[in-house]
Amino acid sequence: MKIRFDRAQLYYPSVAVFCALASLALGWSSYAGRFNGSFYDFYFRRRGPQPPLEDIVLVTIDDETLARYGALPLDRAVLAQGVRAIEEAGPRLLALDLLLSEVSSSPSDSALQEALAGSAPVVLATALEASETGKWLHPLPIFAGNGAAIGHVHADPDSDGVSRRVLLEKRSGRERRWALALECARLWLGAAQEPVTEADEALEIPRSRDSGNVLQVFSTRTNGRALLINYAGGNGMFAQIGFASLLNRPELRQQLAGKMVLLGVTAQGAGDRLFTPFSAGIGMPGVEIHANVLHTLLTGKYLRPAGDLEVALAVLGIAAVAAWILARFYGLPLVILLAGLGALVLGVPYQLFLRGQVWPAFSLLLPFGATTLLCGAYQLLLARSQFDESEARRRRSQRQFEMAAHEIRTPLTAIQGSSELLLRYPLDDAKREQMIRLISEESERLGKLVERFLSVERLSAGEIELRRAPLDLSALLVATVERVRPAAESKGIRLVREGAFTETEIEADAELLEFAISNLVTNAVKYSPTGTSVTLALERDGDRALLHVSDTGPGMTAEESRRIFDRFYRTESARSSDAPGFGLGLAIAREIACHHGGDLRVESRPGEGSRFTISLPARAAAKRKNHITH
Ligand code: ADP
Repeated sequence: MKIRFDRAQLYYPSVAVFCALASLALGWSSYAGRFNGSFYDFYFRRRGPQPPLEDIVLVTIDDETLARYGALPLDRAVLAQGVRAIEEAGPRLLALDLLLSEVSSSPSDSALQEALAGSAPVVLATALEASETGKWLHPLPIFAGNGAAIGHVHADPDSDGVSRRVLLEKRSGRERRWALALECARLWLGAAQEPVTEADEALEIPRSRDSGNVLQVFSTRTNGRALLINYAGGNGMFAQIGFASLLNRPELRQQLAGKMVLLGVTAQGAGDRLFTPFSAGIGMPGVEIHANVLHTLLTGKYLRPAGDLEVALAVLGIAAVAAWILARFYGLPLVILLAGLGALVLGVPYQLFLRGQVWPAFSLLLPFGATTLLCGAYQLLLARSQFDESEARRRRSQRQFEMAAHEIRTPLTAIQGSSELLLRYPLDDAKREQMIRLISEESERLGKLVERFLSVERLSAGEIELRRAPLDLSALLVATVERVRPAAESKGIRLVREGAFTETEIEADAELLEFAISNLVTNAVKYSPTGTSVTLALERDGDRALLHVSDTGPGMTAEESRRIFDRFYRTESARSSDAPGFGLGLAIAREIACHHGGDLRVESRPGEGSRFTISLPARAAAKRKNHITH
């Protein structure tokens, strides 16, 4: 079975697949990453701030603290005072977002050591050295020695400088550290000694308080245990007390009772600030970012990136739907549906974001945009070419209509004139007979004209069905020639066969083909001067039969040779000669040849005659039987 595809039918799905694949491939680019980041940040700002976890209180080494107690790093004796003040308030956890790796004077170090040995569990910060060595900058053993947990405080900003995620795990060499916030969550939820357990898809923090449940933290091993930070809001969302205020206004300390206290630097000059999705010009101090990570962990409102397979399917789906809409609809419904799809592609990811799913905006918008653009452009081109085609068709049929009207007018005028003469004047019998004959001849001519015009129209519209049957072209040619011979002889023109006509079997509609051949022979006779010959030849050229009708008549210019197949076209010399004609015969003959899978051509030169050739597909030559005689 042969299946015919419309090119348009293939175009739309191929564009959809192409756009989907291109979108997926480009989705890995850094440009796509930035684009996704901008949308991600936009979702945060659109959602707005959320109530922060009240259990978190920040004690901030702010500008006022530095103004009072000197530049950073803060003297450890002062730090020790602050830690003691916090401990006195009875917090449930204390985390220091300060690197205590440098050695300082021993009295202040031991003061801090003592302060840290208070009752609340302590989490200290560590970081990897910026240099290649990848050495950990752990707190000095005197500080960490009291069983303090140590968490890393590394930031992991994206290429555009915005911190959207935190790596819960950080390795260097053999040593691995959990993030400071994760350590805080572990100590906050469970007993100090219970470790975090690891699965491929999540980390589990034991909760000793809530009857032994665990807190699942979604962060895959393959993704470096990255956790998207669900920021509660911009700067200053969490409860804060300045370090200096805490020391100088003891009444503030009660706010820390039973809380998780994060101590860190927020002073403007400290430089420890990073951009977040909420940032506008001014970054967020690191300690606040840790608070936001903790907020994410403890509220359990995780943001999970959509899986690769899900994204691939969505991309393909969007491209397919866009292509389908463009292939199927037009006009207002098309605009409405495309706008609807566009709104979904823009709006649904935001709704999913609110439900904790993060979709890459670039990979969703690109297939929609690219498919719409490519299919739309194709549609525009298609519509344009269809419009041009129908315009050309309209102009052609208008021209033909005018020509037909013109051709009809001549016999009609003759009929009208003669009948008026008959009606108005008493004419003698001879004159009357002449008039009546004229009327009859002209109406016959008119009838023929209409009939021919209709047949060429029907043929070109494919309305005439061929009654094909196997036939011998040589026999058909001989029969046609014999029919034209009397007319040729009366004009003194010889019909000559060139070579013998060998039997040539073809599949054809005998009646139509005879019309085409006789038109060629009649024309040759009609336009050739008396005393010349018209030559007929039949030959085989591979799987085609060629039938030539040659004359030594007036011939035609190249332009005329091209136009004689147009309806109603007659050459100047034909029009000025006595030869009757409508200029329709060759148009019909060519249609007939084409409908048989062949064609009709002419070679001609002015003054040298013309050679018309009909070529037709021939059936395989019948095998000759070899008679062996003894
Ligand atoms: P008609 O002969 O009725 O005018 P055709 O369609 O058969 O219409 O031919 C179209 C025109 O082609 C003729 O009017 C004539 O100008 C030109 N033509 C056709 N055959 C010949 C020929 N053998 N020699 C010269 N001109 C020809």
